Amino acid sequence: MSFKITVLGSAGAIPTINRNPSGMVVVMNNQYFLIDCGEGTQMQLRRYNIKFQRINHIFISHLHGDHFFGLIGLISSMHLNGRTEPLNIYSFPKLQEIIEIQLEASHTHLNYPLIFKPLTGDTEIIYNDEHQYVKTFPLNHSVPAVGFVFTEKPRLKKIKKTFLEKEDVSIDEIKKIKAGADFYGKNGKFYPNTAMTIDPPKPRSFAYCSDTKYDESIIEHIKEATLLYHEASFGEEMKDIAEEKLHSTARQAATIALKADVKQLMIGHFSARYKQADDLLLEATAVFPSTIAAEDGLSLGLISSQT
Ligand SMILES: [Zn+2]
Repeated sequence: MSFKITVLGSAGAIPTINRNPSGMVVVMNNQYFLIDCGEGTQMQLRRYNIKFQRINHIFISHLHGDHFFGLIGLISSMHLNGRTEPLNIYSFPKLQEIIEIQLEASHTHLNYPLIFKPLTGDTEIIYNDEHQYVKTFPLNHSVPAVGFVFTEKPRLKKIKKTFLEKEDVSIDEIKKIKAGADFYGKNGKFYPNTAMTIDPPKPRSFAYCSDTKYDESIIEHIKEATLLYHEASFGEEMKDIAEEKLHSTARQAATIALKADVKQLMIGHFSARYKQADDLLLEATAVFPSTIAAEDGLSLGLISSQT
């Protein structure tokens, strides 16, 4: 089952020639989710060949411009391209007013329903379907902000071939065994569930934390994530500025990754003062070796692990 993320923007508040403001696409089991929608996000979607009409759910972490200034353009292009499917937008409530005023002033009458889902800023499940769910948790920033965790639901157990060769098992019984039931064979032989099945891989999860200052209270929400995206606006030499602006340094992002015992860390939301992310990456890998730096267009599949 697919679980892939694509970085649309790795810049901080000000875009640069190589870095767009925040935006990320998460594809899970063919469901397309967009997180944040900085200015130019629709061009990035085109640049990286992501069919934007497939996006039905957009999550906006907070209402700083670099996280939502691209939204009205994307909404409008979806309309002009003939969209009829509803579009769900999860954000702090003020965004609805902002978008409605822009639509009204530009005499745009959408051909599709725009559904606003207000975030409270607390820990809550905001999206839930058969295969996955999305949870929010509070970040520590200068305005209300939330992080998101995308988690796949546990898959069913697999039945061992050797068992199926030995016993005649109906489809109904197979379903029960996959769900954890034991089994009695034709000669009354007892099979405990563990003898017949292989456990599924551990569910994968992707945690997104932008923007936030260093705050250990987020650790419990992102524990053991397969991939953590954590902002690293600055390096340690700017630690005081990071603290003042409620952002994080690369070293702080890596410390959170280490303490949360995640598999891999991606840092991003780099201040425009850094032409390259090399030094920030070095700073982070010194604390948490399994770190990569976000680049616009970078795509990553999340790998299942058995335990
Ligand atoms: Zn911000």
